[in-house]
Amino acid sequence: MYKRVLLKISGEALAAGRGFGVDAVFINAIAEEIVDVARSGCEVAIVVGGGNFFRGVAEQAQHMDRVAADHMGMLSTVINAVALQDAIEKTGVYCRVMSAIAMHQVAEPYIRRRAIRHLEKGRIVIFAAGTGNPYFSTDTAASLRAMEIGADVLLKATSVDGIYTADPKKDPTAEKFQTITYMEIIKLGLRVMDTTAVSLCKDNNLPMIIFSMREKGNIQRVVHGEKLGTLVTA
Ligand code: UDP
Repeated sequence: MYKRVLLKISGEALAAGRGFGVDAVFINAIAEEIVDVARSGCEVAIVVGGGNFFRGVAEQAQHMDRVAADHMGMLSTVINAVALQDAIEKTGVYCRVMSAIAMHQVAEPYIRRRAIRHLEKGRIVIFAAGTGNPYFSTDTAASLRAMEIGADVLLKATSVDGIYTADPKKDPTAEKFQTITYMEIIKLGLRVMDTTAVSLCKDNNLPMIIFSMREKGNIQRVVHGEKLGTLVTA
């Protein structure tokens, strides 16, 4: 079993098929799963995306200055983080939001040592506002924070149960990889996450498991070593 994990949840996942906003039923269900993992003795840190509200590269931002659009994107992740914190704390487990952009009334500032202390005390930590810098993604933030806190693995929960040779939603002949290397992802041009995130994981030997969180209990299964999804190694 993994002792400390970094779980990446995209904003889209929190919208649960509605495309926009946060699905109240789904966020409670996902919070319960996360809490189960924490109660089983695994330290859980989370990076949430913001695509369910705003993306700096979205079509609606084409007329905007990229930095302004990315600031909006990062603020979107804070909305999700606060929503997830609320859902987690309803179960009785302490959860702290740490933001890469200072907003003291809403969240703690991100301080690495303090984040690690929270985890050691059994609190769930949500990292909000990505890396705090424009031109990055929350996947890059997830890779970065995973390394900073010394996570054993980066768990990327998605709507697809792993990495395929092509998009399985469009191509029925697409085959799933059980394992793959970061180099192969780059060489094959697979759109798993952006290349900044991929190269950060590759250069620092951070393993990643990409799996579906559509089935209840999958996060717990992955944390306990069940072979789900695709394992990505350096
Ligand atoms: N973003 C950013 N810097 C970061 C992380 C995120 O500027 O370090 C912005 C960027 O505009 C991005 C948006 O926040 O499009 C939402 O993040 P992302 O697209 O990664 O969310 P997800 O797809 O996981 O929901």
